[in-house]
Amino acid sequence: MGRFYVTTPIYYVNAAPHLGHAYTVIACDVLARHHRQRGDDVFFLTGTDEHGEPVADAAKDQGLEPKELADRNAERFKALMPRLEASNDFFIRTSDDQHKRRVQEVLQRVHDNGHTHLGMYEGWYCPRCADFKCDTEIGPDNTCLIHEIPLVWEQEENWFFNLSTFQARLEQLYAEQPDFVQPETRRNEALSFIKSGLQDVSLSRGKLTWGVEVPWDPSHVFYVWFDALLNYYTALGYARDGEDLTDRFWPANYHVIGKDILKFHTVFWPAILMAAELPLPEHVFVHGFLLAGGGRKMSKSLGNVLDPFEAMDTYGVDALRYYLSRDVQFGADGSVTLDALAARYDAELANELGNLASRSIAMLRRYRDGRVPEGELDLADEFAGLAEDVAARLDGADLTGALDAIWQRVRRLNRYVEAPAPWTISKDDVRAADLDRVLRTLAEGVRTLAVLLWPWIPASSDKLLAALGREDSGYAGATFGAAVPDAVAELEPLFPKQAR
Ligand SMILES: [Zn+2]
Repeated sequence: MGRFYVTTPIYYVNAAPHLGHAYTVIACDVLARHHRQRGDDVFFLTGTDEHGEPVADAAKDQGLEPKELADRNAERFKALMPRLEASNDFFIRTSDDQHKRRVQEVLQRVHDNGHTHLGMYEGWYCPRCADFKCDTEIGPDNTCLIHEIPLVWEQEENWFFNLSTFQARLEQLYAEQPDFVQPETRRNEALSFIKSGLQDVSLSRGKLTWGVEVPWDPSHVFYVWFDALLNYYTALGYARDGEDLTDRFWPANYHVIGKDILKFHTVFWPAILMAAELPLPEHVFVHGFLLAGGGRKMSKSLGNVLDPFEAMDTYGVDALRYYLSRDVQFGADGSVTLDALAARYDAELANELGNLASRSIAMLRRYRDGRVPEGELDLADEFAGLAEDVAARLDGADLTGALDAIWQRVRRLNRYVEAPAPWTISKDDVRAADLDRVLRTLAEGVRTLAVLLWPWIPASSDKLLAALGREDSGYAGATFGAAVPDAVAELEPLFPKQAR
């Protein structure tokens, strides 16, 4: 048994929850649930990023205090978690007093260690990114490459973090820990950014008050990114009343992020931790962009956005959780549409898995009064090593590969149930032993799949395991033959046909 600490990015409260947020929450939840199955000591963190100019500006536009706007919008993200069946252990808000105090402690240490200086900053700034842009990050007519909006020329006196002095240590980190950033394409991107030459970065803002005060210069607040990145560390200090979880869970095993925030997590973040003399996270996993049909960018104005709430209302939360791991290789860009989700729902969840489970249980009830016969199992070879394979893939955050390995066995069981046609065997008393073996194999096969699939489709797996009289979803039961059911009970359709 080990320990496992996984984090989503914290979500900027200026936006309403959308598919991108759901995507990282679900991915992290799959990893967290899998590690809990294995008996690991798990902490899963998510939350909201609340400081900075965009929130202050939006609040002003609406005649609100920034904190009022943050309170209102943070609730929408909090409410998203139970909708997604997320099993997060804490929800951090960067406006929490304990977070702010711990940010000040860590960055004071960075300052005391001599890694800051006061200087004049000027450059092209994207208010949406809350980031000054270097030459390679500026689009035509001085626009933000990510947001495609005009950049603003800004000038002010700032505290700077001496990032440039960490160049050699960062290069060494990437050399010694080749899987620090995954997948490899993103690692190479981050490394080439480092090798292109690092400049010192702005650590504070002078004009702004909506932020964490710089303890050695209270006329400044910390630049929102440094306040935000530190959430991964500060949360452990106060997530549990009267208990500091830092030694138990730091450093994080996985930060899961989108590629639009790569630079902050793969360059700034390890450098600031080095400056504060804190241990570095093991991995930063960078997922790709979810695109609309035909690989086009999703946008409200084009009306091609996959709305996670609509998807869940129609198909249920398990279908969305399954679909997002299944259709797009985790780590790569890919298209997602409601039509494609519907197709996967019908063909895979309803037909392949749902029917397999219903048929197996119905046959056990019809031919054996719901008792699972004693005896031998078929297919042991086909399931051999699967539980280990899935665990190994998930250790590398290969959600899509792990799910595919499981699904190959869903299909194998479907071929198995077709081949010897148990309902024809049942007419022939001489072959009763064959039918016993088939029914026992189906019961155990379906149970094994339910345990393996539990991180993706927890509600459906729990229902199925209950019908099989084996409610334990622990990973010891992910091995075929480990807990053959004794008896089965009626099962409502797991993925009913949808009227649409
Ligand atoms: Zn931008």
